[in-house]
Formats: sequence, structure tokens, C-alpha cells
Amino acid sequence: MGRIFLEHPGGSRLYSCGNCDTVLTNRKELASTRFTGSTGRAFLFNRVVNIRTSEVQDRVMLTGRHFVRDVFCKKCNTKLGWFYEFATEEDQKYKEAKVILERALIMESEGIETPESAGEGPLPIV
Ligand SMILES: [Zn+2]
Repeated sequence: MGRIFLEHPGGSRLYSCGNCDTVLTNRKELASTRFTGSTGRAFLFNRVVNIRTSEVQDRVMLTGRHFVRDVFCKKCNTKLGWFYEFATEEDQKYKEAKVILERALIMESEGIETPESAGEGPLPIV
């Protein structure tokens, strides 16, 4: 058993593993909320840390054929979603190298405000 090294992505709004609370990503990496997973609503993220992925699988979805990897929490091994390795349809290419996390399997929380994330949030109404 080796030690598991966990990264912290920072940011003012964090998404973490719903089972063990390991931080996975933040609001800045959120690319889309209009996805559906096996448990319902799912989010697409540009970058997710503290995960491990399965072997590539060939999967036919509503939007065409994709090569995906299942995504698991690096700490507790809970399945959290999947990773788009390759999309065969031209209009689905934007998903490549991005990660889907199922909303029901992750937790959303307020992070610690850092100088780097201070500029986030809704724009003031002028
Ligand atoms: Zn976990």
C-alpha cells in the first residue's frame, strides 16, 4: 500500500467526492451542466484531479460513438463518472479529454477564498 497523494485545485466553489469528501475540481473547470449520467444530471469539467481511470471502452451513446474511461475517486474508488478519450462525431470533439462527474455522486461546497479566485462570482450590476 503506497501513500495516496492528493492535489487541491483551489477555487471558491469546490466539487468533491460524495463518499469521502476528496476535492476533485472547482467551478472554474466546469464546462457544462447539460449532461445526463446513469444517476441523472451530470456535469462536464475541463480538468479533474484525484481520480483514476479504467481501461478505454467503446461506448455508443445518443450523441454517437465514443471511447471513454470510467472515472473513480483515487482515495475511496467510488465510480464518479467517465472521461472522454475520443469522440467519433465531429460535433462531439469538444468533449475529448474532459471529465463527466455525476451530480448525485459529488458534493458541492464553498471553498476558501484565495487571491487567485477572488475575481469569480456574478458580475456587479452597473
Ligand atoms: Zn472518494
